[in-house]
Amino acid sequence: MPRILEPGQIEASAGRAIPRIRFPERTCVFSARAQRLRQLAEAGAPGHAIGDYLRLMAVMADAQQLVLGSFEAAAPTAHQLARAATHRMPVIHASSWPRAPYWREVVTQLCGAVAAARDAPAGVRATCEQLQSAPAPALETQADALLGGRTEAVDVGGAPFLMAALQVYWVTLASRLLPDQVPGLEVPGLCPACGTLPVASIVRAEARSEGYRFLHCALCATEWHLVRITCSQCQSTANIAYHSIEGDSGAVRAESCDQCHTYRKILYQEKDTNVDPVADDLGSLALDLLMSEAGYHRGSGNPLLWQRP
Ligand code: FE
Ligand code: FE
Repeated sequence: MPRILEPGQIEASAGRAIPRIRFPERTCVFSARAQRLRQLAEAGAPGHAIGDYLRLMAVMADAQQLVLGSFEAAAPTAHQLARAATHRMPVIHASSWPRAPYWREVVTQLCGAVAAARDAPAGVRATCEQLQSAPAPALETQADALLGGRTEAVDVGGAPFLMAALQVYWVTLASRLLPDQVPGLEVPGLCPACGTLPVASIVRAEARSEGYRFLHCALCATEWHLVRITCSQCQSTANIAYHSIEGDSGAVRAESCDQCHTYRKILYQEKDTNVDPVADDLGSLALDLLMSEAGYHRGSGNPLLWQRP
């Protein structure tokens, strides 16, 4: 009797082991993002406000890469690894990991780079200068709110810069992990390394990962496999639809779910090898507008763009 295979079984039966998890490449994760942000800014209409923002975020991504190169975080201890494995919890859990004070130094460096950018608007410059001289407890309180998802307590002006610093810190932690050290979670929609929601998903085109879809962590840039045509928010496989802006390259689509009425962007590397989940999500705000008009809401925000809740 013929058997109907689920998407995961089809992939497994093809004789290829699906890479369950992909850790960030610390030598180029942010420099590639900077390049993509500039590319998207150039592709947009000249003088368009989002283009200026993309260029500013490119300056910050370059600064993130520079700082990342000179920064080393402590690896998880045997005790921390064992506890994560026993309880099937994220080993570098965003809201409970003991952050070293060094992350605040990263804030200072990133804000310095952005404030010095030629085209930085006065408001952004003021925010950066404010963050550079902010007292440590204020920064720690904001970081707790950001990492704990308490959006009502977040200062939206400073959030992208604090998130960028926290990304540097968490990418450093994640890039030192081994796949065996990261247990599978009960909740498949959260980053198995740090427990944060994904910013978007990406169908990879490189060897070993070709054709597989991964969710991309907004904080630590770890990617984890999720079968295609599945809602990344509620895991429903029924009534999933794909939306795009007419006439574009098809590299970015929105994957919507009629079960939970949310959507998340999905990027296709085979359509454009340079796609980056954070950059392309930011560069496709027209698609967000389309989805919002169609009655769907975002599964989660972009780490570099915060709006008032
Ligand atoms: Fe993560
Ligand atoms: Fe859903």
